[in-house]
Amino acid sequence: MLTCGHFNGQIQFADDMQEFTKFPTKTGRRSLSRSISQSSTDSYSSAASYTDSSDDEVSPREKQQTNSKGSSNFCVKNIKQAEFGRREIEIAEQDMSALISLRKRAQGEKPLAGAKIVGCTHITAQTAVLIETLCALGAQCRWSACNIYSTQNEVAAALAEAGVAVFAWKGESEDDFWWCIDRCVNMDGWQANMILDDGGDLTHWVYKKYPNVFKKIRGIVEESVTGVHRLYQLSKAGKLCVPAMNVNDSVTKQKFDNLYCCRESILDGLKRTTDVMFGGKQVVVCGYGEVGKGCCAALKALGAIVYITEIDPICALQACMDGFRVVKLNEVIRQVDVVITCTGNKNVVTREHLDRMKNSCIVCNMGHSNTEIDVTSLRTPELTWERVRSQVDHVIWPDGKRVVLLAEGRLLNLSCSTVPTFVLSITATTQALALIELYNAPEGRYKQDVYLLPKKMDEYVASLHLPSFDAHLTELTDDQAKYLGLNKNGPFKPNYYR
Ligand code: NAD
Repeated sequence: MLTCGHFNGQIQFADDMQEFTKFPTKTGRRSLSRSISQSSTDSYSSAASYTDSSDDEVSPREKQQTNSKGSSNFCVKNIKQAEFGRREIEIAEQDMSALISLRKRAQGEKPLAGAKIVGCTHITAQTAVLIETLCALGAQCRWSACNIYSTQNEVAAALAEAGVAVFAWKGESEDDFWWCIDRCVNMDGWQANMILDDGGDLTHWVYKKYPNVFKKIRGIVEESVTGVHRLYQLSKAGKLCVPAMNVNDSVTKQKFDNLYCCRESILDGLKRTTDVMFGGKQVVVCGYGEVGKGCCAALKALGAIVYITEIDPICALQACMDGFRVVKLNEVIRQVDVVITCTGNKNVVTREHLDRMKNSCIVCNMGHSNTEIDVTSLRTPELTWERVRSQVDHVIWPDGKRVVLLAEGRLLNLSCSTVPTFVLSITATTQALALIELYNAPEGRYKQDVYLLPKKMDEYVASLHLPSFDAHLTELTDDQAKYLGLNKNGPFKPNYYR
């Protein structure tokens, strides 16, 4: 039996389910209202892909392709790119040693034997390492992309060559997007029993088109704020018919992917697109949550003068204590050189703000969806758009003023730079453990509700990543454990700890 702690060298899973308490996260209170179709196109990652639409213009749906074993159970841009994609996956594996170590530790036990996972995530080299880990643990996988631009074509080809039923390519149309999801779910002789989703589109499709599939589904694992929000809505409406795991609010996701990933990639995205120098520049960051905190730390370290806008007094106070000026956007909009949104909200930067910005002001978004900057309001006859670089538009006012809009208001780092592999290893390990837990849970452990990963598993994910730093954990003495009222093997914090 798979067990869950790192101290005995085994993968030790939550047999002790009293630790696995349902906890309503703040995500449930977020007011994100976006349509299903929006979410499929509102964020994308492209910089990681070295191949793109220049290959040829024939839709992959029109092509007959087989891999070297004669299988045509996939639909990718070009299966011939598989070897290149394999090298990309191998490079990603170098910095995903914890996930590889989970793969090795659990390989013998095959905790996912019999699992049929239908997945919908960004298809990048790092996700490929996750998918191949799931396969090594015994699962069969069918996979599509959660975004029309984020697929690394060569990686999709490598997965298809390795036998994964992958349906994805970079630059899908909206129709292709749903067709790919459908091909993953609707397959004669194969029925999914687990869902791994990022954004909730796959889950939505199954609800809408194949509700009977839920009779066999043992659980949904959801990564994104948006998808989690939808799950809470379903749960509230009494329509969630299987257990779901909210990975977004795991500490090892939220405090690492959102915070550290953005701390590293905000500068990368801005530099690659604009060559901007940050020293002495005035930057306003809208939203001082995890993503905002990461962005501000990086900008401050390079000598930028950073202003914050916030609606929440607690986050505003945190910004003050961290040495930032908290302002209303209106107060600084005329003087700032860069505007960055990271609120998860909509219409944070309006046409009025854009009208008042100074010449050469850079505007970009780090939130999940392209709703934060009112880009639509810039599509008016008096303004001229000039594409100056890939993902960089100059929007020109009649008086000659230019605003530099990045990635058309879509997620900057995933659109214009790569994101650090190591941090994705942490998220991917959390996803793998959540799948294993839901798949192996005895009848009745989880009801038709949204759950957080138990703190002990969060801690386990972290512990798997410590050897990369040669970090040495201090062990509680018996006396100390008694004094603090803790088990020496964890969990070390309550479930609500963030
Ligand atoms: P969060 O909830 O921790 O932070 C968002 C903050 O924005 C909150 O403090 C909220 O009070 C504030 N806010 C909301 N509306 C506002 C407004 N009108 N003006 C000013 N502040 C406002 O969320 P987070 O984890 O920081 O994520 C933020 C967004 O970034 C989400 O959309 C999330 O999906 C996305 N995200 C992006 C990446 C990335 O790699 N770019 C990574 C993780 C998450």
